[in-house]
Amino acid sequence: MRTIIEGCAIATVDPSGTEHQDGHIVIEDDRIVAVGEGSTDAQRPRLDGSGCLATPGLVNCHHHLYQWATRGLSQQSTLFEWLQELYPVWAHVDGEIERAAARGGLAALARSGCSTTTDHHYVFPRGAGDLLAIEIEAARDLHVRFHPCRGSMDLGKSDGGLPPDEITEDRDAILTACAEAIDRFHDPAPNAMTRVALAPCSPFSVTKELMAETAELARQKGVRLHTHMAETHDEEQFCLELFGIRPVEYLEQLGWLGDDVWLAHCVHLDEREVTQFGETGTGVAHCPSSNARLGAGVAPVAALTAAGAPVGLGVDGPASNEAGELAGELRQALFVARIKGGPQALTAREALALGTIHGARCLGRQDEIGSLEPGKLADVALWRLDDLDHAGIADPVAALVLGPRPQVDTLLVGGRTVVEHGRLTTGDEETIARELARASRRMQEVVV
Ligand SMILES: [Zn+2]
Repeated sequence: MRTIIEGCAIATVDPSGTEHQDGHIVIEDDRIVAVGEGSTDAQRPRLDGSGCLATPGLVNCHHHLYQWATRGLSQQSTLFEWLQELYPVWAHVDGEIERAAARGGLAALARSGCSTTTDHHYVFPRGAGDLLAIEIEAARDLHVRFHPCRGSMDLGKSDGGLPPDEITEDRDAILTACAEAIDRFHDPAPNAMTRVALAPCSPFSVTKELMAETAELARQKGVRLHTHMAETHDEEQFCLELFGIRPVEYLEQLGWLGDDVWLAHCVHLDEREVTQFGETGTGVAHCPSSNARLGAGVAPVAALTAAGAPVGLGVDGPASNEAGELAGELRQALFVARIKGGPQALTAREALALGTIHGARCLGRQDEIGSLEPGKLADVALWRLDDLDHAGIADPVAALVLGPRPQVDTLLVGGRTVVEHGRLTTGDEETIARELARASRRMQEVVV
């Protein structure tokens, strides 16, 4: 099956930063076979890309899909206050809520140009059903490339942790469930739609033993590792009090720095830690909107990329980022970097690279996705830039990153159309919205 997109501007995000003012992309089955300037002699069918900018589909490196059912709560809280208020609400997640929240979140991501997303799911209340399988099914239905992380919490309040004991799990049960998740769902194939990672939640909700044993299991099975790290000063204080060391030192001691690891946030790193991230190839999921919403601070993105660490972008859970759309994070990443470091701190093209190729590096897929090059998977976003919001902006990449979030005219994932003329084609948006509203009401019934 062949598709030709032509007549559009193209930002390939390849290693040379190749761009075309009026170019074409030829796709055969699920792969890109040619990208270039002008039109092509190849035969139809053609997709008219005029008025649009083509970029690689965006890659979201951090998310908690279930939180789509708890947006708009705890609006003025610090991270720890926010967590303590929301843990009891999240304890009510069940299969129906998970399904509705996952479909809502995945649809929003696709409609904002995101072709690949991860999800960090760590709340598994007893008797709630197979929540990981449910979100994987939602991603398969909507045809979004998916990296679910089997999360976990085993350090409850009674043992000095932050979460209530009711939503923690037994360590052996967690490790068994992690192994099962990999065996059932992980696909190592180069065109995989589903890849599993293991992801204990955070230093303040997981024991040292679980951190170490999870790393051992992941390496034995050949999957990646993910967790939250150095998000707030409170977390730093918690680690200093409980373990006597800083969060990154804690990770290092447990074998958690390496090129098979990517970590959410990493706001509070010192210079030595930034260098360590670069030397070990440890990835960072930068979540600028969530960090702003919770007043956590600004991650040292320019220093991390200069040190050689992969830095991708994440929307984080929609309970701390009600927008939950990755395209907005391009602009937000640029703005917070410049507030901190001045107008040279991050360019529009660097922001686009964070949201595409560097995100792919975080997920270990830089050879398969993240740029528009022959041989790569045909994950392509076509952004409409000839409308009232964008008409006349001199540079299409600036229009995408600095302008209002453009409509995604078309999103292809592995060559298959997921969004067409701004509408989801793999699911019914109205039904998804209705089910999400019902699930959110049920989830929030417990809020007094
Ligand atoms: Zn998170």
